[in-house]
Amino acid sequence: MIGDERPGCAEQACGWALDHLQEFLHGELSEEAADAFRHHLTACESCMDEADMEAAVSRALKRCQQPVHASVELRMRIVGLHLDG
Ligand SMILES: [Zn+2]
Repeated sequence: MIGDERPGCAEQACGWALDHLQEFLHGELSEEAADAFRHHLTACESCMDEADMEAAVSRALKRCQQPVHASVELRMRIVGLHLDG
């Protein structure tokens, strides 16, 4: 195995996740893909951080006047949906 310094985080999966991050945030992934995306983020801190930042930027661009709580909100949403199955 190459590049396994992050257990549970395959580089291939990270590439896939980052490729589809915008689609996920915009709700454009299929249910199956979105589920796989959430599953990866629950296991991958670096992609979760990336998603947090992207979500924060997206929200800031869309609604400049609202405070950004993307980090906690996104994390809870992902974990909640993951637990619900
Ligand atoms: Zn990842």
